[in-house]
Amino acid sequence: MILQTDFILKAALSIQAAIITHKPDIEVLDQAIGDGDHFINVLRGADAIVSMSDELTGLPADEALNKIAIKLLSTIGGAAGPLFASFFMGMAKNIKQNGGHDTLAIAVAFAAGVQALIKRGKGKVGEKTMLDVLVPVAHTFIFSAIENKTVTAICTDIKTAAEDGLASTRDLIATKGRAAGLGERSIGHLDAGAKSCQVMIQAVCNLVVQPLF
Ligand code: ADP
Ligand code: MG
Repeated sequence: MILQTDFILKAALSIQAAIITHKPDIEVLDQAIGDGDHFINVLRGADAIVSMSDELTGLPADEALNKIAIKLLSTIGGAAGPLFASFFMGMAKNIKQNGGHDTLAIAVAFAAGVQALIKRGKGKVGEKTMLDVLVPVAHTFIFSAIENKTVTAICTDIKTAAEDGLASTRDLIATKGRAAGLGERSIGHLDAGAKSCQVMIQAVCNLVVQPLF
């Protein structure tokens, strides 16, 4: 598999649809332990990428990812805007270097994106954030790609890692972001950012494995 801008635009459409489908679950989670804006923040980001279709078509993937990052900085509010922007910038930088010419290269670029997000938010796994989904997904993506698994098998592994990571946030105490102020009262709720990431990752995996006809 090669990462191309055409695929990035298709992925944005799938993400946009999936986020709308999961509006109730995402919204209710940020209402429970945040300020309730996470759904609208993520949807705004997906809408912005979809609206860039003409501008991005034909560009190399790294340039498209960079333009997406810049756009997200000005469109998404809250903590999520700069975090997602850093992800796309980190991924763009890595794709520029390694080319994104096979599945392992794409996995490494995804991990570089997650690493940039970690640097930006000064976060780590176990703090009840989107990192509890993104970090295990990055590990799984690389490990499964190293094993030369089929694209379908890699997608299955990734979806499971995302679901497990999301489930792990339920019993955690939030120590980053808005929910951190709740301390132990954050226990028992899934994290909204972890949920939106799981939904987005699932949507992209389903797009990758969907039959062409
Ligand atoms: P805000 O918290 O400003 O209202 P959002 O509601 O859009 O912004 O995003 C909240 C989500 O962002 C949280 O559910 C959490 O997953 C994620 N998050 C917050 N702070 C961090 C951080 N420092 N590192 C990683 N993810 C974070
Ligand atoms: Mg919020």
